[in-house]
Amino acid sequence: MKVSDLYTCLKKVYGFLGKWWPGLPEEIIIGAVLTQNTNWKNVSRAIENLKKALGENDILRKAEALSTEKLAELIRPAGFFNLKAKRLKALLAFLKAYDFDLNRLKSVPTDALRKSLLEVKGVGKETADSILLYALDKPVFVVDSYTKRLLKRLFNIDLQGYDEIKNLFESEYPPDLALYQELHGLIVEHAKRYCVKRPKCDECPLQENCYYASQLK
Ligand code: SF4
Repeated sequence: MKVSDLYTCLKKVYGFLGKWWPGLPEEIIIGAVLTQNTNWKNVSRAIENLKKALGENDILRKAEALSTEKLAELIRPAGFFNLKAKRLKALLAFLKAYDFDLNRLKSVPTDALRKSLLEVKGVGKETADSILLYALDKPVFVVDSYTKRLLKRLFNIDLQGYDEIKNLFESEYPPDLALYQELHGLIVEHAKRYCVKRPKCDECPLQENCYYASQLK
C-alpha cells in the first residue's frame, strides 16, 4: 500500500467520520490548547466549565477578559491548568488583535497565519495546524504521534521531523479540506483501536497491507 492509498483504505474500515473534531470553531481553538498531554474527556469537561461560566456566545472574548487564575480554575479538569491557562491567554491575546473575528483570520494566507500562530508562546506545530485545519478551514495536514507510528509501521517510513511528515502527506494528497480533516481523524481512530503501543496485528484489518505485520510472518 502507498501513503496515497491510506485514506481510502481507512475509510473502507471506519466509514465516514466527517470533520471528526467536535464543537464550534471557538471551542476547537480552546480545545487545541487544552488537549496537550491529556485525553479528550478531560478537555470536554474543561470546555463545559467555560461554557457554563461564560455562555457559548463570544466565548473567546469573554475568556480573554478573565484573569489567568480564574481561567486556570475553569480549565482545571484538562490538567496542567496553570500552564495551559497562560498558553490560552497568549493565544487569546493574539486573537484579540483580530477582534476575535475568525473570518478575518481565515482571510490571512495560510503560510503567514501559520507563522504568526507559531510565534504565540505555547503554540507548537500540532496545535497551530489543528487550529488551522479544524477551526479556520485551512487544508493543512496535522501530524501527531499516531501519524508517526502508522507511517513507520505501515510503510516503514521513519520520519521524525514534524514538517517532513506534514510535507510528505501534503505532497501525496491534494489540498482538500474535508479530506485532510477526515484523514487525521481516521489515523487517530486506527492508532487507538488497533495500532496501539503494543499493536493488535492479529485483529487489524490492515494487516495484509502492513510492513510491520509482514515482518512478523
Ligand atoms: S497490522 Fe499491526 S502494525 Fe500494522 S497497522 Fe495494523 S496494528 Fe498497526
